[in-house]
Amino acid sequence: MSSPSSVKQYLACWFQLGKRVVANNGQKTIAPGTVLRGNGYSQDFEECWQYLQSSESGDCYLEGTHETIADLMSDRWEITECGRCDMPIPMRSKGIPAECCPCHDLPSWPNNSLPLPRVPVNTQSYLRDLNDRLLEKARSQRNGDRQEELPLCWRESLTRSR
Ligand SMILES: [Zn+2]
Repeated sequence: MSSPSSVKQYLACWFQLGKRVVANNGQKTIAPGTVLRGNGYSQDFEECWQYLQSSESGDCYLEGTHETIADLMSDRWEITECGRCDMPIPMRSKGIPAECCPCHDLPSWPNNSLPLPRVPVNTQSYLRDLNDRLLEKARSQRNGDRQEELPLCWRESLTRSR
């Protein structure tokens, strides 16, 4: 199950790459002016997050995705990482990844020369988590199963471009 904070981090990261959230059944798109302030979230982002959780915003979802914020908050979804760019993506709780990472329509992403979007955490647990991820990545690269981790849409486009 996604915790509210992981859904919040998911939005915070994608907002930093210029994604918006489509709300009110497609009638409106929203994005905060800034996401971070110091070690925390900006007021702008907090207000946006409150709004997206309220009933006023209706069905809302990140641009280029199908899963609504309400879906992501339910126990049917979890937030995991894209195999292509390591950004947070939704995954069905049963272990089936979402059809696509929101990165699929950002041609300039992943981009190693840009700083990675980040979330305001500054704790031991963040470092531990990062360490675990790096270890996990090293392990899966050694096993040569990197491709298997990619979201389906990306695997297909790889196959097509060959
Ligand atoms: Zn991605």
